[in-house]
Amino acid sequence: MLKYFIIALLSFQSFSDCIHEFQKTAEEIQTLAKYQNVLFLNEDNQFINFHSGISLEKNRDYTIQVSHPKRLTESNKGYNDRYLEYYSYAHIQKFLSNQSSSLNNIGYSYKSIGKSVQGRNLYYVAPKKLSNKKKTILMFGRHHGDEGTANWIIEGFVRKFIKDANFREKYQLVLYPMVNPDGAENHSRYNARRRDLNRVWHSNPEKSYDEVKVIQKHFLSQAGKADIMLDMHGSFTEDFIYRVDRNFLSSDYYNMQQSFIDTLGALDPYQNGNFQISNGHKKMARIYFLKNFNINSLTHETPRDIRRNGSRSIEDLNQQGIALLETINKEVVVKK
Ligand SMILES: [Zn+2]
Repeated sequence: MLKYFIIALLSFQSFSDCIHEFQKTAEEIQTLAKYQNVLFLNEDNQFINFHSGISLEKNRDYTIQVSHPKRLTESNKGYNDRYLEYYSYAHIQKFLSNQSSSLNNIGYSYKSIGKSVQGRNLYYVAPKKLSNKKKTILMFGRHHGDEGTANWIIEGFVRKFIKDANFREKYQLVLYPMVNPDGAENHSRYNARRRDLNRVWHSNPEKSYDEVKVIQKHFLSQAGKADIMLDMHGSFTEDFIYRVDRNFLSSDYYNMQQSFIDTLGALDPYQNGNFQISNGHKKMARIYFLKNFNINSLTHETPRDIRRNGSRSIEDLNQQGIALLETINKEVVVKK
């Protein structure tokens, strides 16, 4: 009985999400908190553990996030014995350092453009000189620290990008591969100030927070524009693309995204054309870039914890990155 009650409380959103986020009243939150670890969004934009000492006003809704039940019972100890290797902060450093001369050979470089709250590097990969003639692919990884598989996909994308001179004739890449290195290090969705970095992209960068503020200001002062934005995330259970509904911008925009999703689905058997419609949160990266830059802006989701049972390998994840590049190559992504 109780179980059904909780399911009813939570049933407004699908469980294949990258988090379960809800608007709930004080009463609902108090009930839910008896059975679940409820993360409650405070006035300082931090998701903190809800406890009985926090007093809530009646007759208003609050934003909460509730983790997947599995995440609460499993420890990170022995993670790599059970799942595909967790993509750590040390690993992005190693990958970029290994690619350094290849990047240099194609006129690219990587560097740190600022620091995370705990002092880790915020990396940036881009042409040494941006071109006005090429279309710009803007890519982000790890807004959410515990969604490590996204970075294996980005690695596949970057390696293919370095190899494919024809593709580079038409496209340039602007990549922020690990937006939330502290979260990655701490196996946490949130940054070190308990902020959800995919909810803090304010249209005025002065009002954005922490790592996103640094990256957003950097982007605006450097590339300043893009033709497609891909934000790489990790879901709980399945692969899919988040996109807005038909009325959000226009049916041309909807159809353009549908075409992209169909092409990707034909090249990536895991994505397989799956999508979820979500008009999101106005301070998500996807919605920020869609609204402020009017571009094809998508969130790419792949399960974050993949069992070591042979169903999918790191090479398969790399291949998913290649499929993304080939999709861009086949599609006119700037059409609106
Ligand atoms: Zn995510």
